[in-house]
Amino acid sequence: MKKVSLLYGGIEAGGTKFVCAVGAGPDDIRAEIRIPTTTPDETIGLAIDFLRRQEAVHGPLAGIGIASFGPLDPFPGSPTYGRITSTPKPGWADTDFVGRIGRAFSCPIRFDTDVNGAALAEWRWGAAQGLEVVVYVTVGTGIGGGVAIGGRPLHGLVHPEMGHTRPPHDRAADPFAGACPFHGDCLEGLASGRAMELRWGASPEALPADHSAWEMEAGYLAWEAANLACTLSPQCIVLGGGVMQQPRLLPRVREKTLGLLAGYLRTDRILRDIDHYLVGPALGNRAGVLGAIALAMNAA
Ligand code: ZN
Repeated sequence: MKKVSLLYGGIEAGGTKFVCAVGAGPDDIRAEIRIPTTTPDETIGLAIDFLRRQEAVHGPLAGIGIASFGPLDPFPGSPTYGRITSTPKPGWADTDFVGRIGRAFSCPIRFDTDVNGAALAEWRWGAAQGLEVVVYVTVGTGIGGGVAIGGRPLHGLVHPEMGHTRPPHDRAADPFAGACPFHGDCLEGLASGRAMELRWGASPEALPADHSAWEMEAGYLAWEAANLACTLSPQCIVLGGGVMQQPRLLPRVREKTLGLLAGYLRTDRILRDIDHYLVGPALGNRAGVLGAIALAMNAA
């Protein structure tokens, strides 16, 4: 008799769209749907409808993972557990995400940041398989980062917010004040896709490969990579997101990171093998939704 494999539900909740899937990994996605992010009622309602239809076909899900934009409360037992907390996105602050999903399904649920999910997915199936400490940074409209340690997402105080670290800002070389509504010239304020667009008057996709924007971008991201290497001691840092699609960017980030570290971390992973230390996501733009599936597997 054929063994029936467990199936998991994943919800990648993004600011512009939700991607929902049912499956058990990159090679086993049974169904997938994209939903534009509108109001919490409508968007989460459509996600629930999709997962219910899949349960009707495949049977009960073994777990549901929600990999969401944040900030959010990932701590079961906390009064605000399962909520997106202080987002500026209209209508979504204090949304009780897990409460709504939990009332519709009886399986275990895991709720985390999209980037913690992506770190977990790259650890389980992607560029960082089997490593103890893995960092995933996405450089898109905003910048966010997640960490998986021993196959579990890092929370601690809240969850990592490594987009809001503070790189040195040479105002003579870069007079742009920064785009973060909280900090101005934090990393997200200086190096996100939105910051690039405001500074240069063109979206990152529209900037030619030889534009000086990319050298500056590589510089800011190298500060992030070097600081992460020194603080969390990850064995691999995955750099994903739309801005990283520029093919010359990652090699320049590697070179500049080596320069900043200046030979201090005497490990072959960095000194001899930086190409496998700072890497693109092996799961590509699937890291988000597979992160949600990976969270569901942890839940189950
Ligand atoms: Zn900030």
